[in-house]
Amino acid sequence: MISDALREVSRKLLEEGVVRGVLGYRKGSLPFRARPHLFQSPEELGELVFNPFCGVNLARYLFHLPKGFGKVAVLAKGCDGRSLVVLMKEGQVRREDLVILGIRCPGMVDRRKLGEWRDLREDEVSFGEGEISIRGETYPFSSFLEASCRRCRHRSPSVYDVLVGDEVSSPPFEDTLASLWNLPEEKRWEFFAQELSRCIRCYACRNACPLCYCKECFAESHRPSFLHPSPTLRDNFVFHVGRAMHLAGRCTECGACERACPLGIPIATIFFAVSETVRKHFAFEAGIDLEAPAPFVTYREDDPNAFIR
Ligand code: SF4
Ligand code: SF4
Ligand code: SF4
Repeated sequence: MISDALREVSRKLLEEGVVRGVLGYRKGSLPFRARPHLFQSPEELGELVFNPFCGVNLARYLFHLPKGFGKVAVLAKGCDGRSLVVLMKEGQVRREDLVILGIRCPGMVDRRKLGEWRDLREDEVSFGEGEISIRGETYPFSSFLEASCRRCRHRSPSVYDVLVGDEVSSPPFEDTLASLWNLPEEKRWEFFAQELSRCIRCYACRNACPLCYCKECFAESHRPSFLHPSPTLRDNFVFHVGRAMHLAGRCTECGACERACPLGIPIATIFFAVSETVRKHFAFEAGIDLEAPAPFVTYREDDPNAFIR
């Protein structure tokens, strides 16, 4: 089991003092959830889990570590690993401060799809090879996957120190954008206008994104002020399109933004679309190659412009 293998390697790292903590998952306080946790002693590791509800991108949580915390091990699915690579390239985290515990990821379950079963308990759901069993009935695991996992091309991280999990026999890439692209332009506009009119601009999507780490976001800036605080459709477009521009060539298609949205807005669709455009026109995928220059932004410690350092 992946959880056992992760506990074993984490225990060794903590006991030998290689790392000060292991950033992983423990069971959430609500059903069908797992929450990030920094394990700091071998005794705690009995609570470390990895299951199809561990969607949270842990790269985001490196920013919550106290300054100078020291070396940390971090669990990384394919998309988390891609995010770590982008953060390393942008000088936000240092490779030497990390032990990357790579996971061959089978994909994450969209727990909203379980809402169909009233009062479902965790002990009524189990997982088998390519299957999910709910109250004794089995269904294909693939039909419960999150959109980001149906689109996933990289289930293992490209950079890691240890890789755990069996070779993944999960479904192949599914183009979840196809039905949208096949619509006439005005229908696509209608789709986004309808979805974004529901947005309350709570910024949960931005806050869950491992690559939205600006200390002050343009969306909340007061001097100058770009957006009215109340969520109008026009300003919602400005926020999401602005974020999409900032994420172009950087988004690692992890789906954390969509998972975080309290209104179930398929917001990652925008970012997937931008990533597809970058893939097509620049033959570039974010977070795959530590050395490849990003198409729109590169960071250098010795950049002549002080504002960027
Ligand atoms: S996007 Fe890929 S790597 Fe990330 S959780 Fe889904 S299947 Fe796993
Ligand atoms: S999480 Fe959802 S509601 Fe909140 S700002 Fe993002 S899209 Fe809007
Ligand atoms: S924009 Fe969404 S899909 Fe892209 S890196 Fe951020 S959270 Fe992940």
